[in-house]
Amino acid sequence: MSIVSIPVIKNQHPKLPTFDMDQIAFGKNFTDHMLVADYENGEWKNVQIKPYAPFEVDPSCATLHYGQTIFEGIKAFKNDNGEVVVFRPDQNFIRFNTSAQRMQMPTVPEWLFIDGMKQLINLERDWIPNKPDASLYIRPFMIAMDPFLGVRPSNTYKFMIILGPSGPYFSAPMKIIIEQHYTRATPGGVGFAKNGGNYGASLFPVSLAQENGYDQVLWTDAIEHKFVEEVGMMNVMFVIDGKVITPSIEKGTVLKGVTRNSAIVLLTEMGYEVEERFLSVAEIVDAHKKGLFQEVFGVGTAAVVSYISRLAHGDYVMDFDVNALKVAPALKKQLNDIRMGNIVDKHGWLLHI
Ligand SMILES: *Cc1c(COP(=O)(O)O)cnc(C)c1O
Repeated sequence: MSIVSIPVIKNQHPKLPTFDMDQIAFGKNFTDHMLVADYENGEWKNVQIKPYAPFEVDPSCATLHYGQTIFEGIKAFKNDNGEVVVFRPDQNFIRFNTSAQRMQMPTVPEWLFIDGMKQLINLERDWIPNKPDASLYIRPFMIAMDPFLGVRPSNTYKFMIILGPSGPYFSAPMKIIIEQHYTRATPGGVGFAKNGGNYGASLFPVSLAQENGYDQVLWTDAIEHKFVEEVGMMNVMFVIDGKVITPSIEKGTVLKGVTRNSAIVLLTEMGYEVEERFLSVAEIVDAHKKGLFQEVFGVGTAAVVSYISRLAHGDYVMDFDVNALKVAPALKKQLNDIRMGNIVDKHGWLLHI
């Protein structure tokens, strides 16, 4: 498919000239333009880049009632030479369409998702901060648009991409409690998809954890709560006796993270043995009792690598000195060096804009 040129309506009142790049907070500020496309009669049409603005939906809009909605999270970076790169958007494109299929939504073509993103970012390149741990967060999403209260797949959809400058996300190390009652995902469910409902359903259990002094939960399997799956909205990695272990994605209850996959590749190259397998809470506690449990951290696009200073299972508390971590900071540096062009991108992970 050849690259299409998407019509642009320029924002006549851009915020950029007066925007304070020192005041950026994740998810709160958006750039001056957005990409919008409509799905009708079996095809994507009306593709446009236009001023970022609210839009109207009918109160009976299917998305509002039944949650037929999916999204992605991607980051673009500006290196010291002023070059703009996007980290592995091809993987997000694949996952977006996997999520779409699971939610009975139409897939989007590459010219819309990738080329549309490229054109939008190119227009907004002055919004990309060039600071350590800062980036442009890219949020593609799709929503069902039918004004109809019957439960059936919508016939009409909107695909949109919005962008926002982002500083460091969670910077403080997190305290985590192992969840023993609520679940994020079940085999046969939608845990592998980035659909809205997964996130709404996580808020209550996380709020209970916060009442008890924790930041987030470590999700366990839905059946027995014996095997660990993810931490908050991130994949999770453990370092036990020098080996890196991350939960298997086999059952469809662990999201196939792009950062997770990148971490597996990089850590293996750095000489670590990396295992993708089922990992039980009992094994973790046992390793801790033997003094072999060295590190646990979250990996995901938003926070990249998140340190964990405390992991608790009921009354059993495991503390980690974040200043003594080795694997997590080394991984963070490696990912950062690739994105900022400090080392060669030998895997071809960067899309240059
Ligand atoms: C998005 C997400 C991740 C991280 O995936 P990345 O591709 O690395 O950003 C992990 N778990 C859940 C539940 C997510 O929604």
